[in-house]
Amino acid sequence: MATVGQNGNADGSAAVPTDTGAAGPVPDVPPVPEVGPAPDLYNPDRVETFKGELLEYLGELVPPGDPPWDIGVFEGYGRGMVATRDIAVHELVFIDRPVLVGPRVNNYEVIFCASCCCILRRLQLCTGGCRLPICSRCDFSVGAASPHASECRLIQSWQPKDAGRYSKNILYALTSIRGFLLSDRDRSIVLQMEGHQPRKEMTTEIERLLKDGYFWNLDAEGPAVRYLRQVVNILNTNAFETSRIVADEENNHHEIILRGLYILGALMNHCCRPNVRYVFDDQLRMRVHASRPIKKGEQIMNNYSKILWGTQHRIIHLCFSKNFLCSCDRCKDPTVSVCQERGFPAS
Ligand SMILES: [Zn+2]
Ligand SMILES: [Zn+2]
Ligand SMILES: [Zn+2]
Repeated sequence: MATVGQNGNADGSAAVPTDTGAAGPVPDVPPVPEVGPAPDLYNPDRVETFKGELLEYLGELVPPGDPPWDIGVFEGYGRGMVATRDIAVHELVFIDRPVLVGPRVNNYEVIFCASCCCILRRLQLCTGGCRLPICSRCDFSVGAASPHASECRLIQSWQPKDAGRYSKNILYALTSIRGFLLSDRDRSIVLQMEGHQPRKEMTTEIERLLKDGYFWNLDAEGPAVRYLRQVVNILNTNAFETSRIVADEENNHHEIILRGLYILGALMNHCCRPNVRYVFDDQLRMRVHASRPIKKGEQIMNNYSKILWGTQHRIIHLCFSKNFLCSCDRCKDPTVSVCQERGFPAS
């Protein structure tokens, strides 16, 4: 029987379908991963083991020799990244690749293949009954050669209702669903990321599927949903927005916004005066450069907000999207009372 990780993470690809052209039967539905008790993420031994797993995961993306970063635990922050030597402005700090990538939880203006992101002139529902828009190259009927086959079979196993209709809510949940297809090593890395519980007023993509009864065979209290909730929380806490540029049949180019889980990227803590900037290349790899000189021992800090926003705007955005109150120098401003009144914790 096939096991998890059939999408081939061994070749360095993320848990997103890739066109391997492999022949043979479609893999079986992967077993439901166990969700154990939350590990002590700040334990020094655990941090060291985690770093080793990450270096193995990144493979050739880490240049030979010691990287200019390390993972540490910082008071008031939890885990974070620290410079192990002076880093010059514009110097490449690290390259990361997404361990999970897929659609974001938001409306799209164009319909695209849920698997390869190509743009479809007409909506074509996957013949596997997963209710996702799919191109002919990725359709379930192609068999094991379809890069969508494993995730389609997984969704089929939950027995979607109303299988003849497109479902944007299943599309929104697809990135989390891909969490089932991770290799053991990649799942171990993902489950060592922090996943905050959603706020009470928030309905996550998984809760929406459960609430509206999308499946005949997905138990809201069962182990599959327990695992999905954990992946959702980890994605919502850590994911970055990234994108693919794709052309339609008239060669008009469109940007398809995706969400990606970049482990190293997510380990950077926030500062409204960051010392790095990042870009994504055409393989969705994140390239992080120093935006100013970074001293040895200094935290490597990213900006989770927008650098040009005013203090009040940034603070409110961080409170609602990241659930913490920034206390950096830029944010020491009377407007913090707006959020304190709402009961958000200080970072
Ligand atoms: Zn496709
Ligand atoms: Zn399908
Ligand atoms: Zn700040």
